[in-house]
Amino acid sequence: MAEQMVSMTADQLQKLLEAVVVKMKEPTDAEKAQMEVERQALIRRQKEQAELARAQEQRSLIRRKNCPHHTVYNGKVFWKWGGQVHSDGLVHPVCNICHTEWPPFSAKLLPDEGKQGVGFETANPSKDQLTSLHKASFPKGCERARCFVCHPETANAA
Ligand SMILES: [Zn+2]
Ligand SMILES: [Zn+2]
Repeated sequence: MAEQMVSMTADQLQKLLEAVVVKMKEPTDAEKAQMEVERQALIRRQKEQAELARAQEQRSLIRRKNCPHHTVYNGKVFWKWGGQVHSDGLVHPVCNICHTEWPPFSAKLLPDEGKQGVGFETANPSKDQLTSLHKASFPKGCERARCFVCHPETANAA
């Protein structure tokens, strides 16, 4: 049989090579089935993680709503906020009873810009005062999607 010379342009050769590569890469039925199994497992894991996060969110919402964040002693209200100035220049108040982190506020709003500490013991700020401080620090609303002051619709979503 006489050998046939095949002549092709560089462009045709390129196309042929690409087609070969695609053919080689094409998974077998067994590989396809395995990939589908892995894909389903990934979807399942993502769903479980989302559900877990939602459940945690729900628990912390209930904890926050059920806690007065203060004690009453001899008719006087003692708010249970702790906190300090963080490296972001914000004070992150935390309730010592339910461990809710109240939305943070700028340390610049503290006397002496917080250099003497946050002074929660003496100032005894209520949760409404902390909320006002947060709003004063972020007049246009903060960027935390889960902030229950600025974004109650997402933060309180069940
Ligand atoms: Zn609390
Ligand atoms: Zn906020």
